[in-house]
Amino acid sequence: MNKTAPKKPELQLQGALDLSPSPESCPVTFRERYGHFIDGKRVAGKDADDFDTLNPATGQPIARVAAADATEVDKAVKAARKAYDKVWSKMSPADRGKYIYRIARRLQERSRELAVAETIDNGKPIRETRDVDVPLAAQHFFYYAGWADKLQYAAPGRDVRPLGVAAQVIPWNFPLLMAAWKIAPALAAGNTVVIKPAETTPITVTMLTEIFEEIDLPPGVVNVVNGAGATGAALVTHPDVDKVAFTGSTGVGRIIMRAIAGTKKKATMELGGKGANIVFADAALDQAVEGVINGIFFNQGHVCCAGSRLLVEESIAADFLDRLRRRVSTLRIGNPLDKNTDIGAINSAEQLATVERYIAIGQREGAELWQGAACARPDAGYFVMPTILTGVQQSDTVVREEIFGPVLSVLTFRTPDEAVKKANDTEYGLAAGVWTEKTSKLFDVAHRLNAGVVWANGYNLFDPASPFGGIRHSGFGREGGPAGLMPYLEVR
Ligand code: NAD
Repeated sequence: MNKTAPKKPELQLQGALDLSPSPESCPVTFRERYGHFIDGKRVAGKDADDFDTLNPATGQPIARVAAADATEVDKAVKAARKAYDKVWSKMSPADRGKYIYRIARRLQERSRELAVAETIDNGKPIRETRDVDVPLAAQHFFYYAGWADKLQYAAPGRDVRPLGVAAQVIPWNFPLLMAAWKIAPALAAGNTVVIKPAETTPITVTMLTEIFEEIDLPPGVVNVVNGAGATGAALVTHPDVDKVAFTGSTGVGRIIMRAIAGTKKKATMELGGKGANIVFADAALDQAVEGVINGIFFNQGHVCCAGSRLLVEESIAADFLDRLRRRVSTLRIGNPLDKNTDIGAINSAEQLATVERYIAIGQREGAELWQGAACARPDAGYFVMPTILTGVQQSDTVVREEIFGPVLSVLTFRTPDEAVKKANDTEYGLAAGVWTEKTSKLFDVAHRLNAGVVWANGYNLFDPASPFGGIRHSGFGREGGPAGLMPYLEVR
């Protein structure tokens, strides 16, 4: 019997996976300028504070975008109030549900075009927008359409009422999907909406307003104002807003909570994270490698629940890191519109600078840097190679702070207690993953983790019926499932 271990292939696979370019071909017509959508009408807005939205894969402008001031925000809130008082709250829940179903169906019909537009505006690979962002957005509308006429089951034995006008502010990492997570439950619960997309990704939410027109959604039920932080601040502090739903950084979440303290407004905050992926020695290691990659390199690490900390059991750490680097070396970085691309562009020059700054801090604090992929980093656009930092400590900046990029910090542990202690040693509490074939260990560890979501032998898995949200500095409130309706309802 030959006892010699099979020789492992060389780590560097550069060039070994040369594939012909396979660009997505569905054409999208962009507008020259994206204004607002108020009371069912396209509003150009003032052009004094216009700004560009760029294609992050090239750094080139796609279109101009208007920035709503307080007067325009006021018009949007007034339109939402009028639609709430006169139309949406008077409509039968079953009819409201029909509108939400129609939105879901049109999203499916326009899915290819939306996926291409999202990829161009955001920088994420077409594989993700086509297979994750757009289908999940449609699923959220389908799911909550079903709740519209069943609200009495949301809080059995109690009476539930909508809150009124919801102000919603969303980030750039999942522009269409975050809009769906916010708008679908708000409408199903009987509220009307004013939503502000992130300033770097306004396009797919504007396309969603085209869908509202196509399905004849009554004017004012959903209004969109474009702009940056000042527009968001004017919206969330507007005195006639009943509910604030914010997704974004913990820093901005704190500013908003201070600004609305002492008002009648109810709030939900979906904020930052520093997720831990815990891999035990008895895990299915190749499956765990895929999960770790999915946890941090999916969407360039632009995921609030990213598994940005790998905690791996010491006895298998060397072997696991070897497998991980080998697999990451096969990932393709480049044109996000190419169907072969795994790693797309960072959303903006500003975010690119932030990620690069954190990598430099990590190295300064003693981390060992490893970067790899199956092809070289493109020269143009905003790209960061998948990055693994080893030799880090719990106290290091890259282990403590949210980087929001494709940067994985690796720590080891010897016992389940040590793994739980290290995973919980963060101010955040959004998500975590546990990898073990032993179910008793899985349940024990999962229950001791301080996180709103814990995935078992998986990572970054989403379903409209499952609640998602954080604890501690990752925020409060849930999106998805029946729990996602409650922040839009008053229970009597
Ligand atoms: P950000 O906080 O900078 O911006 C988010 C949104 O808030 C944008 O639309 C922005 O224009 C707006 N805004 C900025 N200042 C404001 C103010 N003073 N008042 C009102 N609105 C204001 O976040 P980002 O960089 O766009 O997104 C990344 C962050 O979002 C990360 O921290 C990530 O973890 C978090 N996030 C959380 C979840 C979740 O579900 N918990 C989901 C996605 C992203």
